Amino acid sequence: MAKMFYAGEFHDSESGEVTEIRNPSTGEVVDTVPKGTAGDVRKAVEAADDAFGVWSRMSPAKRGALLQEAVRLVRENEKELTSLLTREQGKPIRESILEIRRFAHTLEHYAGMAKCMRGGYVTLDDGRYGIIMKKPMGVVGSIVPWNFPVSLMGNKIGPALLAGNTMIIKPAGSTPLTATRCVELIHRAGLPKGVINIITGPGGVVGEEILQNSKIRKIGFTGETGTGKHVMEVAAKEVKRVTLELGGSDPMIVCDDADLDRAVSAASVGRFFNCGQACLAVKRLYLFDRIADTFMERLTGKVNKLRIGDGLKRETLLGPLHTKGQREEVEEMIADAVKRGAKLLTGGGRPKGQEFDQGYFLQPALLADVDPDARVVVEECFGPALPILRVKDLDEAIAQANRSIFGLGSSVWTRDLNKAMRAAEQIEAGYTWINSAQIIYDELPFGGVKQSGLGKEHGNEAIDYYTETKSIVIATEAESEVMRGE
Ligand code: NAD
Repeated sequence: MAKMFYAGEFHDSESGEVTEIRNPSTGEVVDTVPKGTAGDVRKAVEAADDAFGVWSRMSPAKRGALLQEAVRLVRENEKELTSLLTREQGKPIRESILEIRRFAHTLEHYAGMAKCMRGGYVTLDDGRYGIIMKKPMGVVGSIVPWNFPVSLMGNKIGPALLAGNTMIIKPAGSTPLTATRCVELIHRAGLPKGVINIITGPGGVVGEEILQNSKIRKIGFTGETGTGKHVMEVAAKEVKRVTLELGGSDPMIVCDDADLDRAVSAASVGRFFNCGQACLAVKRLYLFDRIADTFMERLTGKVNKLRIGDGLKRETLLGPLHTKGQREEVEEMIADAVKRGAKLLTGGGRPKGQEFDQGYFLQPALLADVDPDARVVVEECFGPALPILRVKDLDEAIAQANRSIFGLGSSVWTRDLNKAMRAAEQIEAGYTWINSAQIIYDELPFGGVKQSGLGKEHGNEAIDYYTETKSIVIATEAESEVMRGE
């Protein structure tokens, strides 16, 4: 049985209760984990609070060196971590490898920033000296969803720890295993006990205590927009800092001068990676009229070749959805679109055969000529279904792209730099890829506009979201007359 990890040790829940973690491909129990309570969170917070003094006073260079050692341990254990991730989450093993490598890359990125941590200095008008100091916040809480349980946790661990904070992490209820193992490895790199802690259990209990606990100074949250609004509301009571990485419905615009081969591949990978369960997935495809039919024909051919199956099989390209409810919701969205007149080009049904009976598999669906008011366009579709809409020109495409409460990612495909830059400037989103999609970089700030989020992860900016900026004034004999009362 897996355990939770805090104060440098493994623990059961104080209630003694456990939750079964099941493989979404086979229904088999992978392991059990403690069902954490508010009391478990409080114990971990005490440990994190105690550890803050030592950790925050350690030099950034030393903290960076420990993070780098953690990276080595993660890489050394890659095989075990990737297999565990596929078994608890369902994603193909090749995608688990990418996720664990991304996690290591993110930690390494922040370890590398250790020697560049700095504030600022300014000579003030009255001759005094001004120092802008960046201070760690204290104990920070990180709440992570199930779709990328490890890499999204890494987006928080890297900047939070480098900046000198201590952490309480809450993985999603259904994907706690690989995250807990990674936290243990990071601790084993030589961190003082209590610096990094992970409490497993339900959002409404463990997550809620993290939101309410007065000793937690900041919440880094990734999840649904609805839950994010709740996080913000609770945090407001104590003016707790929040970073919110929420839902998305990324538009992909393909102009009639685009490189169609590359765009077709990107639409397929961009929509069906992680079985469509990605915040940054291509969720709406806008095709210029002139190339629409050719594009759809090529994309259908490509999508029909995606091999569905158990994520542990090397050849699998499309695993199951993560839960029964998730599959049913996507099926309902497909049915709604068809009812409103969309044409189902391919997929949308459950694959037949013994190997699929126990998993939440769904054939990847392409929907053509979808009503712009269909649920699959308006809501966030978190699964393998892609609505395709025709547009006459770039202005119409941009207007349609912006017709959404979300603003996370977006992409435009064209060989014309003028068109590309116009789209990049006018699409309301935190990211616009020109002739690419979905690939994120540790070097670039990431985060949505509108209801897709608040604040940034990645890049140098992430450090700002894990520090408080303090101004210090040093007075010397060269004081101004005003201060001397003259
Ligand atoms: P979710 O909001 O249901 O859960 C996210 C986390 O919040 C989980 O750990 C959950 O246990 C916890 N939680 C639930 N209720 C809580 C409460 N009352 N208090 C505190 N914590 C609580 O989201 P999900 O279904 O796990 O993830 C999918 C969603 O996440 C999608 O909307 C997706 O777009 C979004 N997402 C966003 C990003 C991004 O970076 N913008 C990345 C990945 C996923």
